[in-house]
Amino acid sequence: MKHREQLSKIRQRINQLSQERVTLETKLMRIGYLNPGALYWRYIECRKRGCQCQKDKKYRHGPYPYLTYVEEGRIKVRYVGKEELSIVEEGASRYVVFWRNMARIREINKLILKYLEGIRDIRIEEEKLRRKAINGNKKRDKRKSG
Ligand SMILES: [Zn+2]
Repeated sequence: MKHREQLSKIRQRINQLSQERVTLETKLMRIGYLNPGALYWRYIECRKRGCQCQKDKKYRHGPYPYLTYVEEGRIKVRYVGKEELSIVEEGASRYVVFWRNMARIREINKLILKYLEGIRDIRIEEEKLRRKAINGNKKRDKRKSG
């Protein structure tokens, strides 16, 4: 493939990637709110004396919603109250989307960097060819004059 063709393909690809990145960044800006952590449901044993749940797992209570999250480097778990459940749930699912998009943006940045390095390589290749051509002409000129 000719260098000019290669360059235009690379530039096209960089444009596509940066457009994708703008779209992702716009989504992130409009995400509204996030809830760090993940929501999960679990059955529990109560502490009521003589409750069946303590004898047989099938009588455990729930399921109840809990949030697992990291705070100061430690994994924590807390119960999620009814009044906050839908907001926490929505925020937690947005949190997943948020980090997925962040990961894709990082990937895009790496790809763009690679393509820009590719342009450098083509430039070097072009420069080599240019110098070769100049030297070739010089030799020819010498032969003619000599
Ligand atoms: Zn119980």
